[in-house]
Amino acid sequence: MTGPLSIAIRGAGVVGLWQALTLARRDHKVTLYERAAEKLADACSPYAGAMLAPRCEEESAEPVVRELGLRGIALWRDTYPGTVAKGSLVLAPPRDRVMLDRFARMTTGAERLDANALSALEPGLGPRFGTALYYPGEAHMNPNAALAFLFEEVAKAGAVLRLGAGEVPPGADLVIDCRGLAARDELPTLRGVRGERIVVRAADIAIERPVRLLHPRFPLYLVPWDNGLFMVGATAIEREDAGPVTLRSALELLSAAYVLDPAFGEAEILALGAGVRPAFPDNRPRIIVSKGYIYVNGLYRHGFLLAPVLAELVAGYIETGATDPEVFLADPAQR
Ligand SMILES: Cc1cc2nc3c(=O)[nH]c(=O)nc-3n(C[C@H](O)[C@H](O)[C@H](O)COP(=O)(O)OP(=O)(O)OC[C@H]3O[C@@H](n4cnc5c(N)ncnc54)[C@H](O)[C@@H]3O)c2cc1C
Repeated sequence: MTGPLSIAIRGAGVVGLWQALTLARRDHKVTLYERAAEKLADACSPYAGAMLAPRCEEESAEPVVRELGLRGIALWRDTYPGTVAKGSLVLAPPRDRVMLDRFARMTTGAERLDANALSALEPGLGPRFGTALYYPGEAHMNPNAALAFLFEEVAKAGAVLRLGAGEVPPGADLVIDCRGLAARDELPTLRGVRGERIVVRAADIAIERPVRLLHPRFPLYLVPWDNGLFMVGATAIEREDAGPVTLRSALELLSAAYVLDPAFGEAEILALGAGVRPAFPDNRPRIIVSKGYIYVNGLYRHGFLLAPVLAELVAGYIETGATDPEVFLADPAQR
């Protein structure tokens, strides 16, 4: 395909926004159709911790997530000034040190810190934990600020946003479907994985980088956003409702935060909520190409990390026909 196209994108979550931005900046005529009447009202994206952690995710994800994710960090840093690139930490209480050793073996790029080196990065954590894994190249952001930025940039790049628009009128050269879990009507193997998270304010806690706390029962991560806000997350439950956080999940998440730093005992709880991550059976992201129609879906735990890379891959496909076999599926029957 050559020359600017008229492109309709369905779904204004992080995936659709990155598609719209990337393609509008390449001079295509882009219209972004969002079914909800208000931005992000029905999206999973605002519930993310927005860690860009391709190396930590290696512990449970396929190598393709690391490969694409390293590029994802570079694209965010080039595009969004609010990307915080201070690396990330993995900790375990002394009795669970064996879990830290396993995590190190399952991932690449970690530096092993002793208590002094950990204190130099995060003064509150060194004495309590004694050792940590540090992944220096990783990054994070506040997802709400990042999504607001993407909406602004999409408009600046000339794309048109249509809210309350669940259908695309005929006439586009190409439709890109980024409807997240709602695309299950056409992608039957897609499933939802519920993730609960809690946002707290703890002005006296000075942690600056995402921290994962390994624990045999309640693994937890903490993402420092800004202005004393922290996201405490997240559960991964094979259920598809985005209803209120359960008492059990809240207890587990908040207890683990308290183990990380007892000062969280005085934190204010600002928001509890759950998003449903769209995932294929193997938890890998997919670009599925049919004639004149492309699905971009299944970003599971990696929507922020991978959305810019999948947008770049789709733009490359439009321009040259190139398809990376790690991600592209050409046969719609494989949906
Ligand atoms: C608790 C939690 C923590 C997470 N943490 C991280 C993290 O740290 N790092 C990371 O990279 N990822 C993280 N994720 C994963 C990430 O949030 C998801 O992968 C990502 O949000 C999926 O984005 P999406 O755009 O595909 O879907 P969504 O955000 O759900 O967007 C889909 C959009 O399509 C719209 N839509 C539906 N039907 C139609 C239609 N017919 N027409 C038009 N629009 C339609 C919906 O209204 C919605 O706005 C986390 C997720 C959760 C739940």
